[in-house]
Amino acid sequence: GRTVLEGSQKIFQTSGPVIIFPSSGTGAWEAAIVNTLSPGDLVLMVETGHFATLWHNMAKRWGVDVEFIPGDWRRGADPAAIEQRLAQDTSHAVKAVMVVHNETSTGATSRIGEIRTAMDRAKHPALLMVDTISSLGSADYRHDEWKVDVSISCSQKGFMLPPGLGFNAISEKARAASKTNKMPRSYWDWEEMLKPNAKGFFPYTPATNLLYGLREAIAMLLEEGLPNVFARHQRLAAATRAAVNHWGLEVLCQEPKDFSPVLTAVLMPPGYDADEFRKIVLENYNMSLGSGLSKVAGKVFRIGHLGECNELTLLAALTGVEMGLSVAGVPHRAGGVDVAMKALEQRHQGNSPLLKVVGH
Ligand SMILES: *Cc1c(COP(=O)(O)O)cnc(C)c1O
Repeated sequence: GRTVLEGSQKIFQTSGPVIIFPSSGTGAWEAAIVNTLSPGDLVLMVETGHFATLWHNMAKRWGVDVEFIPGDWRRGADPAAIEQRLAQDTSHAVKAVMVVHNETSTGATSRIGEIRTAMDRAKHPALLMVDTISSLGSADYRHDEWKVDVSISCSQKGFMLPPGLGFNAISEKARAASKTNKMPRSYWDWEEMLKPNAKGFFPYTPATNLLYGLREAIAMLLEEGLPNVFARHQRLAAATRAAVNHWGLEVLCQEPKDFSPVLTAVLMPPGYDADEFRKIVLENYNMSLGSGLSKVAGKVFRIGHLGECNELTLLAALTGVEMGLSVAGVPHRAGGVDVAMKALEQRHQGNSPLLKVVGH
């Protein structure tokens, strides 16, 4: 127990407790809500996409009063809008700011460090709760440095594991809130978990098999080194965008600062159905591209470049997309894969072991 609990702290970049539930990410969302909030509490959320909308619906079902800052699904949360809203809230009615770090539905990230700075500038005591489900272990994420109160994640994205583990990394402030909040809970109760966790045990049967997998996933991430893992994801994402731009297609995310290192959502040209295109790629090349979810269904497809992914796996995926565009008769400029290849080559110049040996 201790090995995975302490290892998880390194991945969240926190010295505080990390709780591991046998659950999906959705369960870990619920745990964050029921341990910190009370019915009728006001919270501020941002409509960054499909997952932010689902989390918002869940909070409403728990009787939380959610103010949802509308969004166009093409960028992350705007720190200035959050600051402005909190600055108006002189009575401190807002109990929590809840944002999704990496919107898996759009390929846009929210700048959590800047949101923290905005909250501090507004001198607002609200809790900061962040869904880091599809970013943890892939995009740089700093629970302690960004003073996040609850970071929520799960096993089947950056941890490269099957589904079944849900995570809450919690701050002292969040733990204090859990001692006075009024939501009922039992399975999700943090204190029930933290007591046995202190000795490396769990209050009920954990997902044992997955914990063995988690131990290995953490070892893999730390062996590569988190800064290298983050740089690899940035590199693959940049090469993907280079290919998309060359094809003459549009990346859904419009704010370069918010480009996701984890996945890229691509807009289909008007008149072409993204799901038809995905079907052609699946049938011809046995490759499953991500679909557009709810508001962007049929309009976008998504290329994942997270976890166990390197230059060659990415280039294979991009090749499948380019061949698919051709087979499906979608207008595009050929040669995107070549551009991606060049982008990946350039980034390695100067640090190849072979070049160093030759230099000697
Ligand atoms: C996958 C995902 C979820 C949902 O996780 P489940 O394990 O399916 O419950 C929530 N938020 C984001 C950002 C996700 O990518």
